[in-house]
This record gives sequence, C-alpha cells and structure tokens, in this order.
Amino acid sequence: MKKYAGKGVYGAIAIGRISVFKRQDVQVKRIKIENTDEELSRLEAAKERASAQLRIIYEKALKEVGEANAQIFDIHMMMLEDEDYNDAITEMIRGQNVNAEYAVAATSDNFAEMFSSMEDSYMQARAADVRDISNRLIACLNGSEKESRLSSEKVIICADDLAPSETVALDKDKVLAFVTAFGSSNSHTAILARNMNIPAIIGLGDSFLTEIKDGAFAIADGFTGTFITEPDDKTLSEYRKKQQAEEEKKKLLQELKGKENITLDGRTIDIFANIGSADNIGAVLVNDAGGIGLFRSEFLYLENSNYPTEEEQFAVYKRVLESMAPKKVIIRTLDIGADKQVDYFHLEKEENPAMGLRAIRLCLSRPEIFRVQLRALYRASVYGRLGIMFPMITSGAELNEILALCDKVKKELDSENIGYSQSIELGIMIETPAAAMISDRLAPMVDFFSVGTNDLTQYTLACDRQNPHVERFCDTHHEAILRLIEMSAKNAHENGAWIGICGELAADTTLTKSFLRMGIDELSVSPSFVLKVRDAVRKTDLSK
Ligand code: PEP
Ligand code: MG
Repeated sequence: MKKYAGKGVYGAIAIGRISVFKRQDVQVKRIKIENTDEELSRLEAAKERASAQLRIIYEKALKEVGEANAQIFDIHMMMLEDEDYNDAITEMIRGQNVNAEYAVAATSDNFAEMFSSMEDSYMQARAADVRDISNRLIACLNGSEKESRLSSEKVIICADDLAPSETVALDKDKVLAFVTAFGSSNSHTAILARNMNIPAIIGLGDSFLTEIKDGAFAIADGFTGTFITEPDDKTLSEYRKKQQAEEEKKKLLQELKGKENITLDGRTIDIFANIGSADNIGAVLVNDAGGIGLFRSEFLYLENSNYPTEEEQFAVYKRVLESMAPKKVIIRTLDIGADKQVDYFHLEKEENPAMGLRAIRLCLSRPEIFRVQLRALYRASVYGRLGIMFPMITSGAELNEILALCDKVKKELDSENIGYSQSIELGIMIETPAAAMISDRLAPMVDFFSVGTNDLTQYTLACDRQNPHVERFCDTHHEAILRLIEMSAKNAHENGAWIGICGELAADTTLTKSFLRMGIDELSVSPSFVLKVRDAVRKTDLSK
C-alpha cells in the first residue's frame, strides 16, 4: 500500500483499477518539401478534419457539462481559424519549404511561449490550448488520431496532466476518477472534472507516475486529495463504507436537481451559492444553485503575496461571470480586516479589529486599492449578469461616497472607450445593526440588500464571532436579529429593492419558513447546502 497526497478538486471517492493515460508522443520531423501548394492543401484538409472533431467534442461537452464549459472548444475552433496562427504556419511552409507538421509544431511552440510569458494568468493558460489544437492538427496531418483506449471496465485515469479536449473526449461512463501528477485547480480540465461529477485529484508530483502500475487497484479520495495504491483490506473496507455513505446522501438530494424552489402553497424563492474562489463554480453548478449570491472577493487578496492587479482580478471575475451566465453573480468588494488579515496591507494592530478599519472602511480610506477592484469589476461586467455588493455599511454617507467612486470609475472607462454593462445591480450587506435600522433610507439608494447574519449577530449581540468563550451567548435565533432582518425586508420592498440573506443563517432550515414569511427573495448558502435548503422550501406550507 502506498499513499500520495495531492489536491482534491472534486469531492467524491473512487475505488478501482488504474489506467495510465498514454499520450502518443507527437514526434515531428523537419522534412524539406518541393511542392508547397500541395503541402498547403494537406494542411487545409487536416484543418477541416480537426475542426469537425472539435465540433463533435463541443456537442458532447455541451450535453455533459453545459454551454459555459463547452465554450473552451468553441474557443479552440476559433483559435484554429486565427489569422496570426495560420499566417505563421503558411509563411513557414512557403518561406522555408518545410512539411506542414513541422510548421504547425514550431508555430505551436512560438505561440505557447508567447502566451506563457504574458502577465495575465488567463492568457498564460492559453498556452495549453494552443498546444492542444496544434497536436490535434498534427495528428490529423499524419493520420495518428487516437481512438479511446479504455477497456469496458471503469477505471481511474492517471496522467501527467490532461488537456481539456482529452478530458471531454474520454468516455465519461468509463472514468471513475482523474488523477494527475501536475495540473492546476484553475485549469479548464479541473473545472470540467468537477462539472462532470468525477472525483479528481491533481498535483501528486513527478514520482507518482513512475511508481504506479497500469491495472493496479487504487483509491482516489477527491475530498482530501489522497490517492492510495494497492490498499490493504482494512483501508479498502473503510473507504467502501465512506463511499457508500456519500452515495446515499447524494442520491437523496439529487432527486431535487432541476426542481423549483417552491413552497407547497406556491411561493418561490431564489437559492444561490456562496463562493470564495472561482474554483468553487463547479460545486455551484453541480448543486444546481440559481446563481452566486456572495463571492467573497477578499480571498483573491488573501491567496496572494501582493495586491492582485486589475488584470488578475478582471480575469477571475470574467471567468466566474462567464461560467455562470446567464445566472446572476454577486461579487462582494474586498472585506479585509478583523479576522482576515493580509501582511502586505500593513494594517496597524487594533484593539478591536472587528470594529476597526475593515471592509468598506479600509476601501474608503485607501481609494486607490478600491479603484483597482471597481475597474476590474466594471470591465468584467460585460461577460455576464453582475451584482456588486459592499460590505460593512453603516450610513448613507458611506454609500454616497461609494456611489461617487463608482461613477468616477465609469467615467474613466468611458474616456478609455472600455465597455461595461449598463445593468449592473448595486447592493449592500446588511450586517451592522445601524444598516438595518436605517434600511428605509438606504434601500432607495441601491438595487438590493443581502443580510450578513454572521456579522449582524456579532454586532447586535456584542459577541465576538472569533471568541469561543462567548459562543453560548451568541444566539443566532435571537429575536433582535430576526426583527432586524424582518425590518430590512419590509424597508427593501417598500423602496423597490430585493433582499437576500448570505450569512450562515440562510442555510438554517429551522428558519426557512420564517424567512419565507418575511418575504426574503433569495437565500445564498454554501454550494453543498443548496439542495438541502430546496428540500426545506418544498416542504414548507405558508398557509399553515
Ligand atoms: C456575514 O457577515 O454574514 C457574511 C456573509 O460575511 P462574512 O462572513 O464574510 O463576514
Ligand atoms: Mg460579514
């Protein structure tokens, strides 16, 4: 028995035999050719074949993982037609009298290198795509297109890394899990694995591939990222039990996928999901959330060792919006401070950090940081349906200051001829008692409220959410909190705004009926709780 530690990118357990994914090495020789026209028509024919293959893969992906995720193959089709890419290949064939395979391989290297050296992480990731389409084109040129080499038994696919097209081309019904030596959780392949509901582990390291044996028995635990080869009986039976328990849980809730969030007496509510990273989109889609109700953007800052640039942020927001479109995505601006500390902000030590310079206070005190985030958000807004939400609001004056900064950013973008959506919704978190108390004044200034019950509870009950000693005094069902939520809901609706709840209380199904009664329009919960809350809504009867 041998254990390997990697990163789980889709939580589920697979037990079965290993199939080592062998890529046919694309060995390309440089051959001098006489007739360049003939070579160019060979290239044209191969391009047509590659394009037809990509169309089939796109259709397959569309069915299996949805439009947003299938788009990568649409992009591959476009890349195949890209003028610069094609001109470079053609010029090399004509200018150097070389075979088409060599011209494609050389162009692929040049383009991949160019993408890799770009600062923007989204563009860097395109290097893998250009290699992927080039290898396909070469295979079409030399007739080495691969057939699926999977046996009829379901297997755990182990590979160095998998290109998106390789992932989708595999017969989903024959794959138990994807396990790779390299790969990043941001790659399209990881996203595809998640959306195919296939357990996946990445980053097991170099040695793993040399040590594993084709056909050996293994366990892939996508929850913990543990990969075990040739497990002993005790380990195997432990994992079989775990797997069974997971399956039962899932099965029960799966029946609710695609169903409406509707009470027995016909009232509907939106159930959205909370995420901390673009990596969570898979879970959002798998659990059939109606949108994203809270993207905690500060995690972008927490994961970095320096301020994420406008380009870096733009790439992430764009990806989230595109993956979710046409569903709504609410991105909360930076909520740093208190328990979420970042060294490079060099914040002074505070006596009471929860009541200190955090969230919107920090953004208004350092508008240059805020401006970068707002620009990235506005620029990304054209890729989907965006809502921007501001945390820790306590007054109308703060909100006026924020709205003025938004206008300034819009003007800047106008002057640079950069487009942004005209239908971005702007909203605020109701997470201080002050905001709830003046919600009648704040509602006309925004499109929506989202109640942050985690902070609303700590500030209302004067109970530090980080302090375990006051936990028993921290009654999340306290009447004061429920009254503040109800008051905010009434004020929102009387002033044309909608209201959601995105704190942990939203997933508390003992309160679902009360929230529905208050007229809450949206509950945003962890992806894995979406179906549980849907279940509660569907069992509620407001007439009783
Ligand atoms: C909240 O306070 O309820 C909330 C959703 O925000 P966070 O937990 O990130 O402070
Ligand atoms: Mg909060």
